[in-house]
Amino acid sequence: MKPLKIAVVGSGTSGLAAAAFLSRDGHDVTLFERFATPRALGAGLLLQPTGLACLACLGLDRQAIGHGARIRHLQGKSVDGASVFDIRYDQLKPHLFGLGLHRGALFQILHEEAVRLGVRFVTACEIAGTRMESGGRVPVDGNGEGRGRFDLVIDASGARSALRRRNAHLKYDRPYPYGAIWGVCEDPGQAFGQDYLRQRYDGAGVMIGALAIGRRPGDGVETLALFWSLPANSYERWREAGLEPWKKRVLGYWPELSPFLDQFRSVDDLTFARYGDAIMKKWHDDRLVFIGDAAHCTSPQLGQGANLGLVDALTLAACLKHDEDIDGALARYERLRRRHTSFYQIASRWLTPFFQSDRRAAAWWRDRTFGLMCRTPLLRTEMLRTLAGIKTGLFTHLDPGDWHGDYALQRS
Ligand SMILES: Cc1cc2nc3c(=O)[nH]c(=O)nc-3n(C[C@H](O)[C@H](O)[C@H](O)COP(=O)(O)OP(=O)(O)OC[C@H]3O[C@@H](n4cnc5c(N)ncnc54)[C@H](O)[C@@H]3O)c2cc1C
Repeated sequence: MKPLKIAVVGSGTSGLAAAAFLSRDGHDVTLFERFATPRALGAGLLLQPTGLACLACLGLDRQAIGHGARIRHLQGKSVDGASVFDIRYDQLKPHLFGLGLHRGALFQILHEEAVRLGVRFVTACEIAGTRMESGGRVPVDGNGEGRGRFDLVIDASGARSALRRRNAHLKYDRPYPYGAIWGVCEDPGQAFGQDYLRQRYDGAGVMIGALAIGRRPGDGVETLALFWSLPANSYERWREAGLEPWKKRVLGYWPELSPFLDQFRSVDDLTFARYGDAIMKKWHDDRLVFIGDAAHCTSPQLGQGANLGLVDALTLAACLKHDEDIDGALARYERLRRRHTSFYQIASRWLTPFFQSDRRAAAWWRDRTFGLMCRTPLLRTEMLRTLAGIKTGLFTHLDPGDWHGDYALQRS
């Protein structure tokens, strides 16, 4: 397709990756971000082989690996000693691993690449809607002012997308009752984090996690992300009670976390994240398309959101490169991405009550069956494929090893 004038709304993982892919393909890309200084929000995340394969298509995987912590082992234990999961990526393929990464590091890598490729950034600009004008689409800011006419507007504005809320294709948009508190602590030499994502559970109401996330941008200190599951309606009470009762509770479950909890001095050192599920009947309209959390946000139970957003960005760019008209490219992008994202939305929704809910029976069932599934070879392989981000259905999966930037075409 001939070079297009494209607007991307949102400089999160999906938006920056889309801007980089499209700019690399010769399109003229402008990125609108509501913050005056674009930055990453939150602590750390786990990149899966899918997300890493997308970064590889941008030539950024080595840089990410240099900043991050290789995660080889995922281990979840109930406080009564039951092993809920204990699996390693190399049980799927010897070379596979996840990458724990500081969100700031991922942001910095993608942002620098987008700047290098000539993406134009318009900051402190909240896009509230869009309208069609003379055959093009115009992003409209909060004051009702049009911000230029584009051949295509990509909404990558995340889980609370204003454009999605106004879109006629929105079918379902609902928050989960539980969220999580996140904080980053120093873990020099990854003495504790090593190559693990570790979790501890008490019923389904308590979940504590520790994820090695590699080097903090700026000072390079090795870090660990800690998270604690919390019902959204108790967050204010948690803040008012101060840190001490919470620290005491966490240490009761997991005494080894003491040196990390000591690093938190105030409740403001931790961030509360809420999440929800959104389903759209269709991800595109005339010259408007949704990617990442804006199209299909879900609970982070399986740690896939950023990875799905990266694959969306790669696929959309490939479709625009090879299709002759915009409508055809957007329809093809949606067709190619639906199964993968739907699988993870359904699986996350199905799993969440086992890990973040008040349902005792779900936790009882989890503690008696999940460990057994990890030890059953066929089921373990499917669980590993699910965690690695490659499942597209109950019996189907992708192979990110095949991706070379023309992912969309290889699967069509
Ligand atoms: C607690 C928690 C843990 C998670 N762990 C993982 C994990 O381990 N692995 C994983 O892959 N995923 C994880 N996720 C999910 C992941 O964070 C998201 O799926 C991912 O960040 C989505 O990226 P995005 O670019 O689509 O949206 P976002 O990262 O939300 O970016 C949206 C951007 O758009 C901007 N914006 C918003 N509205 C507007 C507007 N109107 N105008 C202009 N700009 C706007 C925002 O400021 C932001 O910069 C986790 C999520 C949570 C909450």
